[in-house]
Amino acid sequence: KKHGRQQSSLIPIMQSVQAECGFVSEFAMQYIADLIGISASEVLGVATFFHFINKKPKGKFIIRLSRDMSSIMKGAKSVARQLENDLGIRFGETTPDGMFTLEWTSCIGMNYQAPAMMVNNEVFSNLTPPRVHRVIEDCRQEFNARRPTVGNVGETYANTLNYTNHEINSGLQRAVSVSPSEVIAELTVSGLRGRGGAGFPTGIKWNLASKAKGDCKYIICNADEGEPGTFKDRIILGKYADMVFEGMTIAAYSIGAREGVVYLRWEYTHLKPHLEAVLEARRKSNLLGADILCQKGFCFDIRIHMGAGAYVCGEETALIESLEGRRGEPRNRPPYPAERGLHGQPTVVNNVETLATLSCIISRGAKWFSSMGTERSKGFKLFSVSGDCSRPGVYELPWGITVDQLLETVGGQGAKAVQIGGYTGQLVPARQFDRRLAYEDLGIGGSIIVYSAERDMLEVAENYLEFFVEESCGQCTTCRVGNQKLLEGIRLLQQGKCSNRYLNDLISLSETVKLASKCGLGQASPNVVIALNAHFKEEIMARPILGAA
Ligand code: SF4
Repeated sequence: KKHGRQQSSLIPIMQSVQAECGFVSEFAMQYIADLIGISASEVLGVATFFHFINKKPKGKFIIRLSRDMSSIMKGAKSVARQLENDLGIRFGETTPDGMFTLEWTSCIGMNYQAPAMMVNNEVFSNLTPPRVHRVIEDCRQEFNARRPTVGNVGETYANTLNYTNHEINSGLQRAVSVSPSEVIAELTVSGLRGRGGAGFPTGIKWNLASKAKGDCKYIICNADEGEPGTFKDRIILGKYADMVFEGMTIAAYSIGAREGVVYLRWEYTHLKPHLEAVLEARRKSNLLGADILCQKGFCFDIRIHMGAGAYVCGEETALIESLEGRRGEPRNRPPYPAERGLHGQPTVVNNVETLATLSCIISRGAKWFSSMGTERSKGFKLFSVSGDCSRPGVYELPWGITVDQLLETVGGQGAKAVQIGGYTGQLVPARQFDRRLAYEDLGIGGSIIVYSAERDMLEVAENYLEFFVEESCGQCTTCRVGNQKLLEGIRLLQQGKCSNRYLNDLISLSETVKLASKCGLGQASPNVVIALNAHFKEEIMARPILGAA
């Protein structure tokens, strides 16, 4: 009843059924289909698309161990062995007493405290074999009300001065004191580009949405932070949620939207009560709801929609498909969401960091912001740093610093390579550490993974491609089949079966996948293979043939 009977309620309804029964049975799917007025096969199609909709019974405690590269580097495999030994099952299995299910999962946004795992919705980080043994014992004793360890970022916050100095709601106060078009003009002049990775100018996006015709416009906060190695958005939501909601409200004022949605990734379920509390406090302070800040007719509210586990939903059109109750498959563009997005209406989709940052900009002015950074990359940026460095964490730094400078800041000197921009970004070798973090050179969503000299780059590539194979939505043959073939190719290279011709074939396949795939996943998934060939070919060719005397 609480979700309604429209198709956009499909995922929330399935999540409610799962919360009640532990899984969504075929019977429940048929019932939901009848309720909404769609076919059972459509419900099944959506249910099977998302990792965190259970289609069969699972244990009372579902343990999901993160297998992103930062976790693997910090000992996830020995933690995995301990879990298997303690529970007497393998990954993918449930204990005979129905108590525990053990699964691998992709990045859960805890890379700087890796290895990490979730037990149901609680997060446990800095895992060691003895620590997971204790967690299992606690679970067995009815889960002892253990507290999650999220949000513990320690001294790395010393750098986030612009966020901590922001006077909450000063941006919104300033926005409503001028016209919507003046707010958009200020944002355009500031040069702010979307912080999710694509870097599209925010002012241009808002301008398009403000001019587009629609009965109801929407603001969506993309909090589906799924790029392996990134966790800055989780930290922002945990510490600066008010700034994100302030940014959404400024956006609503500027384009004339009445409804806002935070699309929160399922792995961040632990943040939901906190976010709900902040929203409620804002409603009580006349910062949401009707006639906001006593501006007659300025009505806007925000709700939270939980994702269900699909990396590709970080792409804005896939996210909208999922919000409408369908499989999260990217749409063809144009039209762009700013013209025709959620329910066919003009929609602005902005990332968490973008929304928090623009609150600072509207408060302090475009000039202040654009005085930092470079010609095409204005202002400051948050970087999530993990891997082989002594001070992992979230860093706020101006655009334009070199990889070398970044490594010095985070204690990663002597690295062999750095992954800039997550798995879909670029693998930069040591001889290129003078390159700059900026759209002129290395544009980046925020994930940085440091690899020291002893890391095996083929193991890195295998980990990336396993992730892409798992997360491909399957629409494009090149992405669905091509990534699988690339993974098989990397595994052959790991066995020492390498020749120039074979490498050339892999590169040619990589280029085809990049060229013929529809969205950012397929267009960037082969980057690691291309980088291995360009920068680490000698290492690959020198690999001994497995089994050879
Ligand atoms: Fe789906 Fe991959 Fe095609 Fe993107 S590139 S639409 S993830 S199959």
